[in-house]
This record gives sequence, structure tokens and C-alpha cells, in this order.
Amino acid sequence: MITMTNVTKTYKTGDVETYALKDVNLTIEEGEFVVILGPSGSGKSTLLNVISGLDTVTSGEIIFRGETLTNLDEDEMTAFRRKHLGFIFQQYNLLQNLNVYENIQIGSDIGTAPLDIADLLEKVGLEKARDKYPSQLSGGEQQRVSIVRSLAKNPDIIFCDEPTGSLDEENSKKILQLLQNLNEDYNKTVIVITHNLGIAEMADKVIKMNSGQIKEVTLNKVKKNAQ
Ligand code: ADP
Ligand code: ADP
Repeated sequence: MITMTNVTKTYKTGDVETYALKDVNLTIEEGEFVVILGPSGSGKSTLLNVISGLDTVTSGEIIFRGETLTNLDEDEMTAFRRKHLGFIFQQYNLLQNLNVYENIQIGSDIGTAPLDIADLLEKVGLEKARDKYPSQLSGGEQQRVSIVRSLAKNPDIIFCDEPTGSLDEENSKKILQLLQNLNEDYNKTVIVITHNLGIAEMADKVIKMNSGQIKEVTLNKVKKNAQ
């Protein structure tokens, strides 16, 4: 689904050049659940940002289903992102003056979501919350709303940066279960940056980064939903 070839990303501060990514080669398959591990500063966010086109590469090539993303201009990349990608971040960014349903609808980019919002809410146990406002929800519930919002437009890939970072254990478990469901039931490709080793155990592929390089790729047992 995604192939990265010799991808390098450098940042220049004065005369000092930092390699955020150094000659990275990586393949991600359709429907794969990928976890990215590594110490702070090892390049995890940069990897996620260049795959999703939030950041440009300094050199190298990224191909998505045969299309060379690294050739797209900014407008084309934005259109690509809207069509194919969903993002889940630690901050939920819900609009306080809109209820749950409206927040999801507006987040689906085009106003009408290809996936049924009521179905999705049921899937995450929030069917009774559709008319509530964010201030009436717990942190874990808000996080689930933001996940449904990312999913409603039916993206092919879901990117998560520390999705459980600010949640207690019980809510973290619910989020993990949801990510697993999305991956298994909807065959979504899920790419997660995390320090949570519980998430790493669920992954098909675990990528360990250090100093801007992939140091180790571990494949877990044969995929359950492989065709
Ligand atoms: P991680 O997500 O693993 O913490 P990052 O991808 O954020 O790592 O950062 C990788 C390296 O690139 C770090 O050395 C970081 O300081 C550097 N870096 C990231 N973004 C910038 C930026 N906008 N300007 C300068 N250096 C950056
Ligand atoms: P849109 O305007 O349709 O939200 P963007 O291309 O601006 O499209 O962003 C796509 C997704 O990436 C959005 O969900 C947005 O919240 C997220 N996003 C964009 N830029 C950043 C950033 N710098 N940090 C974190 N998330 C971002």
C-alpha cells in the first residue's frame, strides 16, 4: 500500500543539520496494523508526517497504491489527505458548541459521512451520547468521539500519535479494542506511534526507530484477515 524508498528528512538550524529521518526504507501492506516505537527524538513523528504529507521529504520517494506522493504539490497533497487519511491525536479538538453528532458530521470533511454515524457511535458504546455536548463527556468518551470523527469519512489509513497517552487504563483498553476492530472489521490500515507495549502486542508489524533510522522491523504472526 505504501512504499518508502531512501527517505531522508533533514532540518537545518543555522549551520547545524539534523537528520530526522536517514535513508528510511519501509513497506506497509493494505490492512496492516503497524506500531512505531522508539525514544523521543528518534523520528517517529517525522515518519508519520512525511507519510501523511504533513511534512515534505528532503530526498527519497513515497508511493501510495502506485501514486508517487512525493511528486504531488501542496494542493494535491491536501486533497489526497482528505480523501484517504484519518488522524487521531491526543488532543480531541472537539467543538464545544456542537453536540457529538454534529462534531462528527463536521469532521467528516464533506458534511455527509460515507459511513453511518449512528452505527459507528454504537460500535464505540456512545449511542446514547449523540445529542450530548463535549463538556458532558469524560475524557475517554471524548477520545472515542474524536476517533469516530476521524473514521466517518471512511479513510483508508488511520494515523494515531499516542492515542492512549492521556487516558486511564480502562479507557485505554477501550480505545485499543476500537483500533483493533477498525483494523479487523473494516480492514483499515492503522499506523500508531506509541510507548504502550500493549498496543505493540496487537500489531502485525512493529517498527523500532532510533536516530532517524529503522533499527528493527518485527512481524507478528500471520494476519487473521489476510486474503
Ligand atoms: P519523535 O517523534 O521520535 O520524538 P521527531 O520526529 O519529532 O521524533 O524528531 C526527530 C528529530 O528531528 C529530532 O532530533 C528533532 O529535534 C528533529 N526535529 C523534528 N522537527 C523539527 C523541526 N521542525 N525543526 C528542527 N528539528 C526538528
Ligand atoms: P483539513 O483542513 O481537511 O482538516 P488538513 O490537510 O489541514 O485538512 O489536515 C488533515 C488532518 O491532519 C486534519 O485532521 C488535521 O487536524 C490534521 N493536521 C493537520 N496539520 C496538523 C499538524 N501540524 N499537527 C497535527 N495535526 C494536523
